[in-house]
Amino acid sequence: MNDFKYQWHKLKCKISSFMHSALTGRYGIDHLYRFLTVIIYILLFIQIFFRVKFLYLVTITILIYNFYRVFSKNHQARYRENQLYLKYSKKFRSWFNLQKRKFVERKEYRFRVCPNCKQNLRVKNVKGKHTVKCPKCKTDFEVRL
Ligand SMILES: [Zn+2]
Repeated sequence: MNDFKYQWHKLKCKISSFMHSALTGRYGIDHLYRFLTVIIYILLFIQIFFRVKFLYLVTITILIYNFYRVFSKNHQARYRENQLYLKYSKKFRSWFNLQKRKFVERKEYRFRVCPNCKQNLRVKNVKGKHTVKCPKCKTDFEVRL
């Protein structure tokens, strides 16, 4: 048993050092890589139910492009691509993060929108009627929880 553990550890070290040497000087993983990986998984899931050759082709193309980006040595170009992705996905990502935060803090806080400036506000979850001051536009408004 101990011999197996030793061999397993040795194998893990070999894989780790191989990965380290293979990725030295390469661009690696970024936000766009993670996004494309999620897209690949969604496309693969869809293909369980609908076998469309076009989707298969799109999935393979994204997969190859993703690997190309990870192993690319042109850091500037990959960085620019990632910045472009971050720029255009900012609204969606901030909306998604807000939904996640609302879910995680749903027991302690309630989220309300300021009627004046549409800013999202976090209000402590205490039952009753409260007057809330928006920190952005300094407007007072009533909130019923
Ligand atoms: Zn406001």
